[in-house]
Amino acid sequence: MRLAIASGKGGTGKSTVCANLAQSLSETQPVVVVDCDVEEPNLHLFFPAECDEIEVTVANPVVDMSLCQGCGDCGRFCRYGALTVMKGSHTFFPELCHSCNGCAIVCPNDAISMAPRRVGAVRSHRHSPTLTLISGILDEGEVQAPPVIHKAKEMANGTTLTLYDAPPGIACPVIETMEGADYCLLVTESTPFGLHDLELAAGVAEEMGIPAGVLINRSDGHDEEINDFCASRGLPVLMTIPFDRRIASVQNIGGLISLEIPGWDKRFIGLFRSIIHSMEGEL
Ligand code: SF4
Ligand code: SF4
Repeated sequence: MRLAIASGKGGTGKSTVCANLAQSLSETQPVVVVDCDVEEPNLHLFFPAECDEIEVTVANPVVDMSLCQGCGDCGRFCRYGALTVMKGSHTFFPELCHSCNGCAIVCPNDAISMAPRRVGAVRSHRHSPTLTLISGILDEGEVQAPPVIHKAKEMANGTTLTLYDAPPGIACPVIETMEGADYCLLVTESTPFGLHDLELAAGVAEEMGIPAGVLINRSDGHDEEINDFCASRGLPVLMTIPFDRRIASVQNIGGLISLEIPGWDKRFIGLFRSIIHSMEGEL
C-alpha cells in the first residue's frame, strides 16, 4: 500500500504526523518512508542512520557545433524556452529544460545529443530492521524537484507499505508525490488558512482520483468549519490531535509523541486502521 501524507500549506505538522505514523507501524511490520519534500527534507532528523547515496541526473542537450548549420529548428521547437539560437549561436537554460529530447529529434543534422546533468541525490537510511527512510535531496540552486521525487519513489518500489511525505503546497512536486498513491491523508489545522489550503489539497486528490481523509492537527476544540467542509466533500476526519502543552514540548525538541507519550503509538496504529476502513468504504 502507498499512502501519501500531504497538506496544502507548510507548517501543519505533516512531516511529524508521517514520522509518528511510520514509527508506530514499524513496531509490527516493515515500513518504508519516502521523504518527497526534496527542497527541505527533514525526516532524517527523526530517524538518524548511516546512509547510502545515489546521484539523480536529468538529460540535457549538448550541441556538436561541427555538425550544426545554424538553422534554429531546435530553438523554435523548444516550448519551454530552454534553448534559443541567435545568429547561429545557442543559449541553453538548464533550469527550464524538461529533458523531452525534442530538440535532438528535430535537428536535421543530428548535431544534438543528450547528456546527464546532476540535479540531486537520493539517500537510503536503514533506521531499524523494520523502518527504512528514503530521502530525496534537490541540489542547491536546482529547481527540478519532480525527477528527484520520482527517483526516491522508484527506490521504494516493491515494498508492502510505503509512506510518501509530500512537500507543502499543490504544485508539480506534490502531484509527482501523489501519483500512484492508493490513499492520501490530508493534514490540516483549524485556522482560516488551514481550511483554505485543505480545500486546495482536497481538490488535487479529487482530480487525481485518490481517496482521501483528514487529520486535524493542533486542534483547539473548535473544528466546526473543518468538519463542515469535510462533511460537504465526503472526507472522513480520521484523527484529531489536540493543541496540548505536553505534545508541543515533545515536538519542539524534535521528539515523537508515539515514542515519548504512552498511548500515542496505539492511536497512530488506529489511524492506519481507519485509513484502511476508509479505503474499503466503511467510513
Ligand atoms: S530537451 Fe526539450 S525542453 Fe530541453 S532544450 Fe530540448 S526541446 Fe527544450
Ligand atoms: S537544429 Fe541542429 S542544425 Fe539547427 S541550429 Fe539546432 S543544432 Fe544546429
